[in-house]
Amino acid sequence: MAGLIERYIDRLPFELSDPIVSIEEGSTPLVPAPRLSERVNADVYLKIEGANPTGSFKDRGMTGAVSAAAREGAKAVICASTGNTAASAAAYAARAGMTCAVLVPDGKIAAGKLAQALIYGARVIALAGNFDVALKLVRELADRHPISLVNSVNDFRIEGQKTASFEIIDEIGSIDVMCIPVGNAGNITAYWKGYKEYGESPELNGYQAEGAAPLVLGHPVEHPETVASAIRIGNPARWEEAMAAVTESRGQIRAVSDAEILDAYTWLPANEGVFCEPASAASVAGLLKYGVSDAARERAEGQRPKVVCILTGNGLKDPDTAFDNVGSVIPCAPEMSAIEAAVLG
Ligand SMILES: *Cc1c(COP(=O)(O)O)cnc(C)c1O
Repeated sequence: MAGLIERYIDRLPFELSDPIVSIEEGSTPLVPAPRLSERVNADVYLKIEGANPTGSFKDRGMTGAVSAAAREGAKAVICASTGNTAASAAAYAARAGMTCAVLVPDGKIAAGKLAQALIYGARVIALAGNFDVALKLVRELADRHPISLVNSVNDFRIEGQKTASFEIIDEIGSIDVMCIPVGNAGNITAYWKGYKEYGESPELNGYQAEGAAPLVLGHPVEHPETVASAIRIGNPARWEEAMAAVTESRGQIRAVSDAEILDAYTWLPANEGVFCEPASAASVAGLLKYGVSDAARERAEGQRPKVVCILTGNGLKDPDTAFDNVGSVIPCAPEMSAIEAAVLG
């Protein structure tokens, strides 16, 4: 299977002769969710972005950003990250033979993501500050040194990420509604760009965690807090673009509480067999909380509306949050009677 730059080369600012850095990202599963569909009276699909090579959608942007950096002759990349960008940048830099440094908020990053960044060989710097501070610092650093910045302020990230829209439309045709978690707002920006380039206009609904909801409040949040660490961001870099995306698409950015996020996070694996990380579950939490809009139902003209929830990252990234929200294992002696009691309850 080809990576996404090769797959969509005609729609991306690359040539096949460029030094493309790919781990065959993209072409992720779009899985029907029958139980969720029943709950919201719509045909709901889950876009499993956790199936990308490092387990999140960030790989779509990273093949773009690191390929562009390679074309420019860059030897080093840097990013600020709540975790997944770090893991992805580290992997693509390793693939390209570049060095990589990542700045992460100290103590606020999921265990799996930290393990990934380290094992791919990045220099991992734990900043005594939050993501917004980290991003400001790496932007300044990249201005002062010959290091390529691969955060989603880099337009090649957006170019790579927009291909997810193409995949959805290529697979199931026009959709009515899309639900997506919003942190730094690069991804919702990218999806809208992709849909527009395809002449599509689904209603885009973005969801932020209540404690980190600057786009809902209309002002930056100085101390963002949420269990969904990937969207613990108080001042999104793509603020204007995200608001334009929802306005132009007749959607909204709304908030979901941590309790609602965790409900969706535990409900989805137990009912659809799909395990995503907490931030990703915000898309499903939002759909469950707010439902499908009357306007979207009207546009579907009597058909069941087609809804896609973007599951941005793999649940295995953050085992600690999983353990905190499920039952415990059942201890058992190696005897039949004990096993019967344990198995049969
Ligand atoms: C980065 C990330 C987000 C947020 O995407 P933005 O482009 O920052 O809005 C959501 N979920 C996961 C799992 C992420 O890694």
